[in-house]
Amino acid sequence: MQRVRLLVFNAALGVLDYRVPEGMTIEFGSIVVAPLGPRQVLGVVWEPERLNTQEVPESKLRPLLGVMPAPPLSERLRRLIEWTADYYCAPLSSVARMALGSISALRGGGTTTEYRLTGVEPARLTPQRAAALDALQGEQGSIRELAELASVSDGVLRGMVGAGLLEAVTVDLDRPYPPARPEFAEPQLNDIQQHAADIFVEAVKDKKFAPFLLDGVTGSGKTECYFEAVAEAIRMERQVLVLLPEIALTENFLRRFEHRFGVPPVLWHSSLKSSERRRAWRAVSLGAAKVIVGARSALFLPYANLGLIVVDEAHEISFKQDDGVRYNARDVAVMRAKFEGIPIVLASATPALESMQLAEAGVYRKIDLPSRFGGATLPAINILDLREEAPERGRWIAPKLVEAMKDRLAKGEQSLLFLNRRGYAPLTLCRNCGYRFQCPNCTAWLVEHRFSKRLACHHCGHETPVPEACPDCGTGDCLVACGPGVERIADEVAEILPEARTALVTSDTMNTPAAIGEFVAMAENKAIDVIIGTQLVTKGYHFPDLTLVGVVDADLGLEGGDLRAGERTYQQIAQVAGRAGRGEKPGEVLIQTRHPEAAVIAALANGDRDAFYAAETEARRDAGAPPFGRWAAIIVSSEDQAEALSAARAIGGTAPNLPDMLVLGPAPAPLSLLRGRHRFRLLINARRSAELQKTLREWLDPLEFPRGVRVNIDIDPYSFV
Ligand code: ADP
Ligand code: ZN
Repeated sequence: MQRVRLLVFNAALGVLDYRVPEGMTIEFGSIVVAPLGPRQVLGVVWEPERLNTQEVPESKLRPLLGVMPAPPLSERLRRLIEWTADYYCAPLSSVARMALGSISALRGGGTTTEYRLTGVEPARLTPQRAAALDALQGEQGSIRELAELASVSDGVLRGMVGAGLLEAVTVDLDRPYPPARPEFAEPQLNDIQQHAADIFVEAVKDKKFAPFLLDGVTGSGKTECYFEAVAEAIRMERQVLVLLPEIALTENFLRRFEHRFGVPPVLWHSSLKSSERRRAWRAVSLGAAKVIVGARSALFLPYANLGLIVVDEAHEISFKQDDGVRYNARDVAVMRAKFEGIPIVLASATPALESMQLAEAGVYRKIDLPSRFGGATLPAINILDLREEAPERGRWIAPKLVEAMKDRLAKGEQSLLFLNRRGYAPLTLCRNCGYRFQCPNCTAWLVEHRFSKRLACHHCGHETPVPEACPDCGTGDCLVACGPGVERIADEVAEILPEARTALVTSDTMNTPAAIGEFVAMAENKAIDVIIGTQLVTKGYHFPDLTLVGVVDADLGLEGGDLRAGERTYQQIAQVAGRAGRGEKPGEVLIQTRHPEAAVIAALANGDRDAFYAAETEARRDAGAPPFGRWAAIIVSSEDQAEALSAARAIGGTAPNLPDMLVLGPAPAPLSLLRGRHRFRLLINARRSAELQKTLREWLDPLEFPRGVRVNIDIDPYSFV
C-alpha cells in the first residue's frame, strides 16, 4: 500500500488520505499516527472504496508518521463499526472511537507508577492527610486517581509521598490475568438446565452465528446454564463477552463467576483506573483476556478471538445509550455476533417484546427455563388497592404491608420495599405562597435529598442547599415535601419498625463496588431486615431469607404515556417480585396501586405473563410501534430558544412526504429545557419496510444550521422526553 485512506478519530475531520513512507508496513485496520497541520491525529487504515472523500492528488499527500504497536482492528469489527454508524445515523469516527477505549493502551506495554499507603501512621496529621489516610486504605492508583478518591489536591498526596506515608509501586501494564478454570466448580444441573446448557455448548463448538433468547423465570438458574457455554469457550481458547446493564450488577456477578471459575473475569467499564483500562484493552486485543464482563462500552472492544456473547438482563433499557452515539447495545451485540459468526445468548426473566417477537418469528431460538431451581416456588402476588386500604395520613405504606413487614421481622425474615424514585421527595413547595423549586437549567422539579441536605436536579446535576426560608416570599420554616422518594420511605420504616436494621439502596448510596459488596455481604449474613431501594435492587440479587417484597407505588411508571411504560412497569415489578422466596421459604409480593384494573397490574396479579405480552403486542400493533413499525426522534436544541425553534421548523418544513412515514412535530420536547438547552422534537413513525435511515440522511444532510444548534437523531428511541 502506498496510499492510504484513514478514518480519523475526529468527527469533524472524518476521512483523510495519506502516503505510506518507505519501509512502513501497514494493513487495513492498522492504527496509525498522521500529521495534521502542526498537530498529529490518530486514525484507522480503512478500505478506500468504503469511505467517501475528496480525492487528493498524489503530490499533495503527506506521509504517515507511525504505526501504533497494537493489533489492527479486524475486518469483522470494521464492518460492525460501519453497520452501527449507518443504522444509528452516527459519525463513523465516533463509533470507531468506542473500539479504542484508551489511547494510552495503544502505545503498548511497559510499566507505570502507582502509589499506595505505606502503613506508617505518624502521631500528628493535618486534617487533609488524615482524611486521605482514611480514604485510601487498600487503594492503589496514580496520584490523580487517589486525589480524586480522597477528595484532596494532588499536592497533598505528593506531600504524603515525601513524608513516607505513600509509596511508589511499579506496575507492569501487561501482567497477565490468571486464567479462568472451566473445571473449577462444575454445578449439578437439573435436566431442564442441562438441556439448555447442552444447546449453548453445542453452539459454541459450532462457531456459527446463532442467536438465542434464554427465557427463564427469576431464580431458574440462567446464569448456571450460560456459564457452561462460557466454560466451553474457555476450553476452546476463545473469548467471551458478558454484557450487564449496570456496573452495580458486576459486583454480584464477579463473585458468582469466581465461585464457578476460580478467578474473577476481566472487567470493562467507564470507571476503571487508567492502568486497568490499558491492561484490559491490551489483553482483549491480544486475546489474552478470556472472559470480559462489562457495561455496554465493552461491546466495541477489538476482541482477537471472540467465541460467545451473553447479554444478561437483556430487557434492560439501560442497554440503550442516550448520548453520544445513541445505540442499543443489545441489538448491536446481536449484529456483532453475526459479523463474528458466533452464538449470542440474550438472557432475561422478562424479555423485551421485540425479542419475544423475533423468537416467535423464528429469528431467535427460544430456550425456556419455566421453574425455579431447587424446588423454590414463584412468590404469591397480591394487590393492595390504595383506594380501599389507604396508608395513614402522611404515610405511604398501607396497613396490610406494615403488618406483613412486622410479621417477617418477628420471624427473622427479610423484606424489600421498592420505589423507583431517588431522594426524599420529588417536589418541594412553600406552604405560604405555593412557590415550587425548579431547576434553572431544566424543565424539572428539584428533588430533595435529606441525606446530603440538598435539592438536586436528576437531569443536569444542579444542586443547591435546602434554604431556611422561601426564596420567593421569604417566609421561614415553610417548606413542605410532596410525595415520597426512597429516603422518605426509609424514614417511615424507621418509625414503624424502630428495631429493624435497614439498608437504603440507590445510586446515591451504592456508588462504589465496595459499598455494593458490603451491602450484599450484610444482606446475606442477615444483618439487614428491611431493604429499601430503587430499580437498583430489582435484579441479580439472591437473598434466600428475603420473603416479602412490597411495591410502594406500582402506578409510578405508568405515568407519562411513554411508549414502553406498560412493558417497563411489568418488567420492573416482575423482576423485583423475583427477589422474594428464592430459598426454601415461600415468598409474597404486595403491590400497592390505585389502578388494579390496569392490564399490567392485572397480569402481574394473575401471574399471567402470556396475557400481558398478548395485550401489549396488540396495543403496539395498533399504534404502529416497535416491533411492528419503527420510531425515530429528531431532537433539535440550542441555548437560544428562538434559534432552536427556527431550526426545528426548518426541519419540519422540509420533511419528506412519503406513504410509509409519518412525521409528527416539531413540538417542544417534554423536557423542553435540559441542561440549559431549549429542545424541540420531531417524531417519525415509519412502517417496517421504510428506508428510515436513508430518508433521514437525505432529508437532514443538506440542511445547515447556526453553530449553536445541535440536531440529534435517535433511532429506535427509548426515551421520549
Ligand atoms: P436467575 O439468573 O435465573 O434468576 P440464578 O442463576 O441467579 O437464576 O440462580 C438462582 C440461584 O439458584 C442461584 O443462587 C444459583 O446459584 C442457584 N442455582 C441455580 N441452578 C443451580 C444448580 N444447578 N446447582 C446449584 N445451584 C443452582
Ligand atoms: Zn437540571
